[in-house]
Amino acid sequence: MSGTATIFWFRRDLRLRDNPALVEAVRSSKAKVLALFVIDEEFCSAAGPTRLAYLRRTLQALDGSLGGSLVLRHGEPTAVLLELARESGARAVVATGDYGPRGRARDERVAATLAAAGVSVVFLDSPYVVAPGTVRTVAGSGCLVFGAFKRGWLREAVPAPLDAPEGVEWVRAPSRSLDELEHLGMRERPDYFGELPDGPASRPPAAGEDAAWSQWSNFAEHLEGYEHDREVPGLDATSRLSPFLRFGALHPRQVLSALEGTTPSHEKFRDELCWREFYADVLFHHPESARRTFQPSMRALRVDHGPEALERFHCWARGETGYPLVDAGMRQLLEEGWMHNRVRMVAASFLVKHLHLDWRWGAKWFMWRLVDADLASNQHGWQWAAGTGTDAAPFHRVFNPTLQATRFDPEGTYVHRYVDELRSTPAPACLEPGGSSLLTSNYPAAIVDASEERLEALRRFAEARASLAVGP
Ligand SMILES: Cc1cc2nc3c(=O)[nH]c(=O)nc-3n(C[C@H](O)[C@H](O)[C@H](O)COP(=O)(O)OP(=O)(O)OC[C@H]3O[C@@H](n4cnc5c(N)ncnc54)[C@H](O)[C@@H]3O)c2cc1C
Repeated sequence: MSGTATIFWFRRDLRLRDNPALVEAVRSSKAKVLALFVIDEEFCSAAGPTRLAYLRRTLQALDGSLGGSLVLRHGEPTAVLLELARESGARAVVATGDYGPRGRARDERVAATLAAAGVSVVFLDSPYVVAPGTVRTVAGSGCLVFGAFKRGWLREAVPAPLDAPEGVEWVRAPSRSLDELEHLGMRERPDYFGELPDGPASRPPAAGEDAAWSQWSNFAEHLEGYEHDREVPGLDATSRLSPFLRFGALHPRQVLSALEGTTPSHEKFRDELCWREFYADVLFHHPESARRTFQPSMRALRVDHGPEALERFHCWARGETGYPLVDAGMRQLLEEGWMHNRVRMVAASFLVKHLHLDWRWGAKWFMWRLVDADLASNQHGWQWAAGTGTDAAPFHRVFNPTLQATRFDPEGTYVHRYVDELRSTPAPACLEPGGSSLLTSNYPAAIVDASEERLEALRRFAEARASLAVGP
């Protein structure tokens, strides 16, 4: 192996097109690049089997685009990179920047250790159009209000997407097997998941850079109407790009540069991409918000624990609450590793405000099952629904799961798709608690009474606020 290769460390940028860090690796090495992916247990073992299976397929697609020369190594990244640099004679490592709490800490460690060994490490670009930490208020802090963030975000220049590098010599090196990913899937499974199902999703989304492009071009043809159709889960009118964006098979810059119009659908779609960047920015400034309730006044909110609470949590996660829209969403999650945004909001709100459980239990289950699981969007999506986050829906505005079903799935199209027991129950009965159990005997009765539990949620909310006023 020649000594002039640069190591390109793939992370959340599993693509060749519009990858500025990869272009830099090619430029600085005179087109001699060793393409590496590190199976890092610290990151992989919290993923759950569905996401690991999806990652595996994304890596297979990337390896195909590299003519089979993707080098996989398993271990702690600093040790892996030092070893590979020694083996290959590489003096430089290039990677796309990571802005998550654990990723930043890891990258600091890696850069310091490798520099001491005479290997330079360069991080550039990010998985976002505008890197977290860039948009600031006049006072210089991060924005906690979406509208203010968006104004700053829109002012940032967006570079034109780059082509995939050409004429690269992909340097080969001994590689581990992708099978190793499978053995990591259960290491960090929380005890409270108990007997919940753990097999990978039976109908997961497509993976890889080419699949991302065909998904995007199909969606772009039907973009008009997105601004209202996106709320209707039965229409399937959203882009379903989130898994590709999660692993970087597609960069949001590529999507944004194709969105030149100012129609309401284009504006709305830009907004949604901006929410992803807003939450990444909030997490960048407030890393503790991934685990901690953001609003201090909501930290005192009483949540249930113990066997009955666990039983309710398991009914929710299996899609057996007796509330058809919630159950349809939770079953979509089990089957596809993905869930429609409207239903994510309703299912999350139900867990917090009708079952009185800790939002972190629900967020953990989503992180475990979603192929698009992203710490920033998930934890802040949860805190939004729980009424505890930045710019959150006020806690006292409680989604009624039956009214949400009537409004957004009036024909029961979505419920029929995912809840087998209700397939032959027409709307509106199939939208009601227990699927109007007079008609359907094998669908579960509602596990709680939503109107009573709404009142209980409001009592707990008042209690939490009162305790803050009194102080500890
Ligand atoms: C409780 C909860 C948990 C969530 N967890 C995640 C998660 O782990 N990963 C994730 O990517 N999204 C998460 N979201 C946001 C949103 O549900 C998904 O991004 C969206 O459903 C993905 O489908 P899509 O690609 O078809 O979206 P589209 O409607 O086509 O939107 C395009 C893109 O914009 C971004 N986006 C859209 N809505 C949001 C939003 N509310 N917040 C942040 N980004 C958004 C996504 O990258 C999405 O792919 C969560 C939302 C809630 C309420």
